[in-house]
Amino acid sequence: MRMITLGTGHGNFTGTRYKSATLFEIAGRLYLLDCGSPAAASMRRREIPCRDLRAVFNTHMHLDHIGGLPDLLYAITRYPVAGQHTDVYLAENRTAELYGFMHAMHLSEHPEYLSFHTVTEGTIFRDGVLSVTAIPTDHIARPEGSAPVTFAFLLEAEGKRILYSGDLRSDFADFPETEADVLVCEATHYRPERAAEVFRTKKYERLIFNHVHDPWHGEEGERKLLSYYTALSCPVEIAHDGDEFDL
Ligand SMILES: [Zn+2]
Ligand SMILES: [Zn+2]
Repeated sequence: MRMITLGTGHGNFTGTRYKSATLFEIAGRLYLLDCGSPAAASMRRREIPCRDLRAVFNTHMHLDHIGGLPDLLYAITRYPVAGQHTDVYLAENRTAELYGFMHAMHLSEHPEYLSFHTVTEGTIFRDGVLSVTAIPTDHIARPEGSAPVTFAFLLEAEGKRILYSGDLRSDFADFPETEADVLVCEATHYRPERAAEVFRTKKYERLIFNHVHDPWHGEEGERKLLSYYTALSCPVEIAHDGDEFDL
C-alpha cells in the first residue's frame, strides 16, 4: 500500500505545510484520512480524481482536519461517473450542519454519490481491502461519560497494521496501546521526551511523523525532533507535503 501525505501541518498554514490530509492507495482503491484544506486541490495537482475516493475518515472535527471537506465533496460530485460512491465518516454527527453550510454555497447533497456516517469506537469500515478500527482518544476534552469525539485509527490491509494517531492530549496519556507495524503519529501537541519513553516500549517497524509543529520545521527543526528518538530501534521519518511512503 502507498501512503501520500498531502498535508502535514497543524492548525495554521505555514510556508511549507498544508493542513492535515493523508491519502492511502491500497490495491487500486483510494482512502483519505482527514481532510484539512486544501485536500481536494492537492489531489487535483497529482491528477488523482476525488470521485475515486472509496471513503474519507475524519479523526476529529477541528478545522485543520475537516475544513477541506466542502471543496472535496464538490470535487467528488462535480463530474460523476457511473457506480461511484464515497463513504464519509465524521468524528461527530454534524451532517445537518455540514449540509447547511453546503446549501449556503448553493451546493447539492448528492446522496446518490455520498453517504455520511458517524465514527464510533470499534471497527467502522471493512470493504475486503481495508479494515478501519476507531480508537477513542482525548484530544478534545469532553464531559465524563459522553461519547468520544476524537479518534485514532487502526488500518489493516495487505497483512499490515498501520496506527494513525490523529491529534492527542498534551500529556500523551491517551496515546493508543494498540500494537501496529507502522505508527503514523502527530508531532504537535505533546513533549517528545514523553513520547520517546512510550515508543521505546513498542515494537513498531517504522515510525512516521505528520501534523508537524513549527519548531520541527526546516532542516534544523527536523534534526532536533529526530534527536529525541535516536534510541528507538526502528526508522523514524518526518513526512512533508507530497511525500510518498510504500508501507
Ligand atoms: Zn490538528
Ligand atoms: Zn485537533
